[in-house]
Amino acid sequence: MSVTQSLQQLKSSLKASDRMPLVFLGHGSPMNAIEDTEYSRSWINLGRALPRPQAILVVSAHWMTRGSTLVDVSAMPRTIHDFGGFPQALYNETYPAHGNPQLAREVVSLLASHHAQEDDTWGLDHGAWTVLKYLYPDADVPVFQLSIDMTKGLNWHLETGQLLSDLRDRGVLILGSGNVVHNLRALDWAQGRPKDWATEFDTLFTDRLSERDFGALTNRPQLGALLHKAHPTLDHYIPTLTIAGASDARDQLTFMNNSFDLGTLSMRSFVFHAM
Ligand code: ZN
Repeated sequence: MSVTQSLQQLKSSLKASDRMPLVFLGHGSPMNAIEDTEYSRSWINLGRALPRPQAILVVSAHWMTRGSTLVDVSAMPRTIHDFGGFPQALYNETYPAHGNPQLAREVVSLLASHHAQEDDTWGLDHGAWTVLKYLYPDADVPVFQLSIDMTKGLNWHLETGQLLSDLRDRGVLILGSGNVVHNLRALDWAQGRPKDWATEFDTLFTDRLSERDFGALTNRPQLGALLHKAHPTLDHYIPTLTIAGASDARDQLTFMNNSFDLGTLSMRSFVFHAM
């Protein structure tokens, strides 16, 4: 199926809407899901400010695939407790939103050039549900996830966003979930000052994103050792790029939660608003 045919199908299954914002959230610790923190409060406020979507497509750091981009087409995505050693209360949490199989299959077509395939085994990992429960507490908006192909370069993930961008005009909220800086090996449990390299990368990211210099954000040789310190693995970085890729020059960019948790987790989040 061609992309054009697929877009025509989308027009039949989703109502045209004002262009939806794009959201990237730094999710940090899963404990935010059950604790009253500055972050959980900000997610509640964001949910109140966002327009109501017809569906939500989540690109989470925690669904990593190799060699393909999977799209969850299940009708009722399960809540995945993909972490260990946390209190039972966290494992009792569920986010019982429906999926949107028809739209998910259309996304597979939209991403044909990116080797997209259907999947009905994933569900909602904690990158998705720990923030969605605050954004849309009634779990009454259909939601489904898209995986990140870890075998591809950074530019690939920017392009994924570009391929998805028209969904914004059909009431789809594209939500990225990761962290702008994410180094679990260097966590500072004493909550001291953020590490210098963490602040440096956070600032660089913010400046380049604001200038729409996305080429700088995907240039690994140029980012060099600083990128490796900020992201020993790239999974939490990649969703920032997909969200950036779905934006365009007409969008207004705002940042929120501009602070660090445990010294090496930037909770910086951002929203592209259509003007
Ligand atoms: Zn995470």
